[in-house]
Amino acid sequence: MNVSWTKHRFSGGLLALDTTNTVVLRGDPARSFDRFEDTAEIARFAAAAEGFRSAELGGRGLSFQFSDAAVRRVIVLREAADRMLRAAVLSGGIETIHLPDFLRACAACLDESAERVGADGMPFGDPSLPIRFEAALAVSALSLLAVDAWKKVRICPNCNWLFVDRSRNSSRLWCDMSVCGNRNKAKRHYQRGKLAGGEAVHV
Ligand SMILES: [Zn+2]
Repeated sequence: MNVSWTKHRFSGGLLALDTTNTVVLRGDPARSFDRFEDTAEIARFAAAAEGFRSAELGGRGLSFQFSDAAVRRVIVLREAADRMLRAAVLSGGIETIHLPDFLRACAACLDESAERVGADGMPFGDPSLPIRFEAALAVSALSLLAVDAWKKVRICPNCNWLFVDRSRNSSRLWCDMSVCGNRNKAKRHYQRGKLAGGEAVHV
């Protein structure tokens, strides 16, 4: 069945984090699964990301040219970014042990790309043409290496997703208040024995 790429699935706040979050419930082997297991979903994710990440992309479109090698590059960068950022959130600093894999994965995704990124109003290059999804993923991931960027990354205590906390007092707890925040409230009620119902399950 096709994944419905809803707004909630773009709670990460950056293309690179939304991509890491295509693995659901990381750290819970019994329930974790990969939304890119059907690799056709990568192109559908990219199409949805054009809309949900339009501000980050400067309105630029994303194109994903399917090949086994392209899929592999996306997955390798997704996993390297997840490892590096999760460790940084937990330890409070970027662990250089994670950088070689991360940077190699970014380099592979940028191979043969010829974009001019970061110009005024064109953060991902000229919006009149789409950018390759892999290249955009690498640009987004590399933007997280800036100190003020990765220090805003959080781990959702309900679903374990990564997200950027852009709240004014840096106090955002949940990836998505309307999903994980509410589920946690429900769970607390349930634990107090006031509410009968199932365990919180991520969608
Ligand atoms: Zn969450």
